[in-house]
Formats: sequence, structure tokens, C-alpha cells
Amino acid sequence: MKIYDEDDANIRLVAGKKVAVIGYGSQGRGHVLNLRDSGVQDLIVALKEGSVTAKKCAADDIEVRSVAEATAWADFIVVLAPDEVQKDIYKDHIEPYLSAGKTLAFAHGLTVHFGLIEPRDDVDVVLIAPKGPGHQLRALYEAGKGLPSLIAVHQNATGKATDLALSYAAALGSGRAGIMETTFREECETDLFGEQAVLCGGVVDLIRAGFETLTEAGYAKEMAYIETLHEVKLIVDLIYEGGISNMNYSISNTAEYGGYKTGPRLVTDETRAEMKRVLKDVQEGKFVRDWMLECQAGQPNFHAKRQIDAEHPIEEVGKRLRERMPMLIQGKKLVDRERH
Ligand code: NAD
Ligand code: MG
Ligand code: MG
Repeated sequence: MKIYDEDDANIRLVAGKKVAVIGYGSQGRGHVLNLRDSGVQDLIVALKEGSVTAKKCAADDIEVRSVAEATAWADFIVVLAPDEVQKDIYKDHIEPYLSAGKTLAFAHGLTVHFGLIEPRDDVDVVLIAPKGPGHQLRALYEAGKGLPSLIAVHQNATGKATDLALSYAAALGSGRAGIMETTFREECETDLFGEQAVLCGGVVDLIRAGFETLTEAGYAKEMAYIETLHEVKLIVDLIYEGGISNMNYSISNTAEYGGYKTGPRLVTDETRAEMKRVLKDVQEGKFVRDWMLECQAGQPNFHAKRQIDAEHPIEEVGKRLRERMPMLIQGKKLVDRERH
């Protein structure tokens, strides 16, 4: 895999463009503030008419226009609205205002790779995907560091698409951490698989199942919360910092031995076979088709599951414990619940 650093990129390329960022959510705000601090001066945000997010832009001193106006004005258009609305935004507000030689950029390959958006041939289509949420992209940049990014080129109409994507990623600060070159397909399929099988599906259901096993066996909810949820962060921090062997070095031999014995009892051949089927559903587009149908229907199952999970006892006991013991959550809050 090709990994670029700051010296490989020319930030002036993107700093010389008129850049429009569509959406000012998690990614949008991080991108815009980093771009501005990296010297991109002709920079605007595009939002839906009447969006409450306009207030955030005003507070950050960022000009807001409609998506249509922004697309017509810009050379470099970054689509950072939610994946599920990108198709309609593109059809109604971007496509009619695009012209030859402009660059269309995304932070996730889903809508382009699965054909929900099919851009005209004479524009560049690139991906710049920071590997983390926007607040982290911003916080690392402000600390003089960077979040790694993936870049990819789907269409290279101008012959400069790779240089431009590299320039944009460097302006986000990613040159300080590594800019990795991939394809829309690889970014999109590995991202969807990772979040479903490991990060957001696997880990969360493992936590909840562990909590339920302990509480159903009669142990206190508080104990179950500390053991199966709170301590996850302590373990993940060790893994993140130095890999799995670093984690094993820090924990007790008893914990390490228990992990070796029990891990394979949970992640069995059956689990691995199911993971392969999850990957196949992603690769064959089944997952994206199902998700888009759910969105067309107004997301009823999505909202129902969100509500059920919010009412789980692990949420109630967690809220109570975190309030009592503020030291459980060190540092500043990562999630701004008012981001929309
Ligand atoms: P988000 O939900 O945080 O923000 C979306 C923004 O789009 C909001 O400002 C909203 O007001 C705006 N918006 C909604 N509908 C719109 C419309 N019709 N027209 C214009 N603007 C509209 O989204 P996000 O999590 O920042 O995701 C944006 C993109 O970045 C997605 O492609 C996502 O896959 C990708 N991505 C996200 C993360 C992450 O950690 N959140 C990481 C990497 C890539
Ligand atoms: Mg993702
Ligand atoms: Mg222990």
C-alpha cells in the first residue's frame, strides 16, 4: 500500500481552489476548520434551506449558501452530507450545476461505488476519508498532529485528481500521520464490514451480552457495567497504543490466560463463517440496498432499534454511575449531541 506524507503533497493546489463543503456535521466541521487553517481562503459551506446548522457556521464565521449555488461557484465540491441523502442531493442540487473540470470529493465511497451517484465523465471524482470522526480530525490538527486519511480516485478527468486528493488530505493535516492510497471499492467495503462486524455491531453486542449474562446470574448491575463496558476503554487504549501484545503485557497473567482460553469459545468457526456472509452482503450490495429501502420507508426499524437500545438497563445504570463518578469519563466530551 502506498503511504504518502506531508512532503509528497502540495497544499497550495487545493488552497488555490474555490472549495465548497456540503454539510457541516461531524466530518464537515472538521474538514472546514482544518482547511481554513491550512490556507484555503475561498471556502464556503452548503446546507439545506432553513438548516439549523447554519447557526454553527455563523459562530465559526463560515459563509453558507445553497447546495446549487455552492456547486455552481466552486471548483472543488466535497459531499459531506449523510450517505443516505447524497443520491437525492446529487440529482437535484449538484448534477445540474456541475461543469467540466470540477472535482467532486467524498469522505466515504458508498454512494459512488454502489452506483447511487454516477457523475458525468468530465469531472474528477476523488475520495478523502479521514479514519475517524470529525472532532478527532480537528483536535489532532489543533495539537499539531494529524489523523490518517485514505485517498482514492474514481475518475481522473483532469489528470490531476491524485495530486488534488493528496493536497486536500494534507490540508486536513493527514500528511502528519499518513495518507494511504486505496480504491473506492476497498475503502467502502472494508469500512462497512469493519463497522458492522467489529466496531459498532460486534463490540456493542458483545458488551451487552456480557452485561446481560452477569445481571441475569444475579450480579449487581453496577458491577456488570464496570466489568463489561467501562473497562473496555482501558483495554482498547492499551491495544491502540501498542497492539494486542502490549495489552497482554499490561494485564495480569490470569487475565491473559483466561482470554486465550475463552476468546475462541466465543469467536467460533460459526462466527467466522457468519463474518464471511456479512462481508458478502456488503460486497454484493445487499446491505446498501436494504439500508436505502429502510431510508425510503422513513427508517422505521432503525428508529425502533435505537429506541429499544436507549431503554436497555445498561444505559440507565451507566448514566447513574457516570454522574456519581465523573472521573469515569476523563477529558472533555467527544460527542456534541446538538451537531445537527
Ligand atoms: P453528519 O450526519 O454528522 O452531518 C451531515 C451534515 O449534512 C449536517 O450538517 C446536515 O445538516 C447536512 N445535511 C443533511 N441533509 C442535507 C441536505 N439535504 N443538503 C445539504 N446538507 C445536508 O454526517 P457525517 O457523519 O459527517 O458523515 C458525512 C460523510 O462522511 C458520510 O459520507 C460518512 O460516511 C463520511 N464519514 C463519516 C465519518 C464519521 O466518523 N462521522 C468518518 C469518515 C467518513
Ligand atoms: Mg463508515
Ligand atoms: Mg478484572
